[in-house]
Amino acid sequence: MQKNDELILKIEDMGVDGAGIGKSDGMTFFVKDAVIGDVVRAKIIKLKKTYGYARLMELLEASADRVEPNCPYYRQCGGCQIQALSYEKQLEFKENKVRNNLERIGGFTKIPMEPIVGMDEPYHYRNKAQFPVGTDKEGHIVTGFYAGRTHTIIPNRDCALGLPVNREILDIVIDFMEKYHISAYDEKTGKGLVRHILIRCGFSSQEKMVCLIINGKSLPHGEKLVEALRKIDGMTSISLNCNTERTNVILGHKTIVLWGQEYITDQIGDISYEISPVSFYQVNPVQTEVLYGLACEYAGLTGNETVWDLYCGIGTISLFLAGKAKQVYGVEIIPQAIEDARKNAEINGIENAEFYVGKAEEVLPDYYRKYETEHPGEHAHADVIVVDPPRKGCVQRLLETMVRMEAERIVYVSCDSATLARDLKYLCGNGYEMKKVRTVDMFPHTVHVETCVLLQRRTM
Ligand code: SAH
Repeated sequence: MQKNDELILKIEDMGVDGAGIGKSDGMTFFVKDAVIGDVVRAKIIKLKKTYGYARLMELLEASADRVEPNCPYYRQCGGCQIQALSYEKQLEFKENKVRNNLERIGGFTKIPMEPIVGMDEPYHYRNKAQFPVGTDKEGHIVTGFYAGRTHTIIPNRDCALGLPVNREILDIVIDFMEKYHISAYDEKTGKGLVRHILIRCGFSSQEKMVCLIINGKSLPHGEKLVEALRKIDGMTSISLNCNTERTNVILGHKTIVLWGQEYITDQIGDISYEISPVSFYQVNPVQTEVLYGLACEYAGLTGNETVWDLYCGIGTISLFLAGKAKQVYGVEIIPQAIEDARKNAEINGIENAEFYVGKAEEVLPDYYRKYETEHPGEHAHADVIVVDPPRKGCVQRLLETMVRMEAERIVYVSCDSATLARDLKYLCGNGYEMKKVRTVDMFPHTVHVETCVLLQRRTM
């Protein structure tokens, strides 16, 4: 077997990045854009000892679960990976992935899994989009999405995951740029003005935000752009964000309001959040409410509990739980997010939520140690600990402190079921029992999925 050989593969599984997996001669092959159930002719493009990568050349037999993707660019675009798979099958794939990781990495056998929560309407769910701006070969301004793993812009103003109003806004911005000869930024030379167009929409408030990220300090004829954009229903915030660095980081530090407010407001459940161009905010508000509702249900609060919300971001979960708990403590590493969390607590009149800036694995152990010193013979206790870490999961030191605090319940919200399984293995080996697991599809058509787990402390 060698590079450029062609193989016939039956696709039996999909990998973490959504590529189809087929076997031939004991070797595993990853084929991008092939879905479970397909039979394909594929050409080997890279060969390793036990596995390889192959390019889809011909679909010999289409899987019964294959559907016509909603977006004509889905194969080139880096945003979606599994749009060609029926939504039902996507959900099955995601649930299986979580179960497999819990079994394989966590060593769990009886997994109390509740059915995955999918979306009724799995398109147009994103409340935020960041469109890169560039210039094509003919010198026209283009905007769209980066092709997978590159910075080549595929012109497309109609992303199937975004809102229809994005197109209206992009048309206005690009027409404005053409008319007033405003240049697009060029990553290669570092020259040109407009880098990205950021659009946010509050799903429940219907407030809309447009922010142009520019390689400079001002936008010539900006008042003309404002005049056109403010006609859009719900327009609340039009701003510039200055980023003159040569970097892949999209946003800079300075935001200049051109019109309206710097932020929009949105509600998830009963809680209002103020969102500025630089704020972190969950991109799928419908499923966020489902996921945090689940976290709340698992937390089993009666009003008397002390709750820690580790990796709290802008305090979304903390504020969700505060109304049902005695006291909530949030911990988050990004100072700006904590500023947002405090402000959000204030605008919602929540007084029993306190926030700390720092690493969860430092703040919690420090708190524990300090408590011991100040209360000899006692130790810090929490009734419920919620964690929602980034993909790498929790560090051991944090898990150890969580165990020491003897929380009655731990609610683990995870965006990576492999590190989730690793951390659950530790917690369940140290006094906890897995009571419930439920996966929520926050990002339809991508391979990503969120999982919420309830752990209960075993009575000794
Ligand atoms: N629950 C939050 C989002 C969690 S995403 C919400 O819904 O708003 C994970 C968060 O963990 C991010 O905000 C990230 O900045 C933060 N983070 C990353 N490493 C951390 C660490 N070591 N300690 C505390 N927070 C951390």
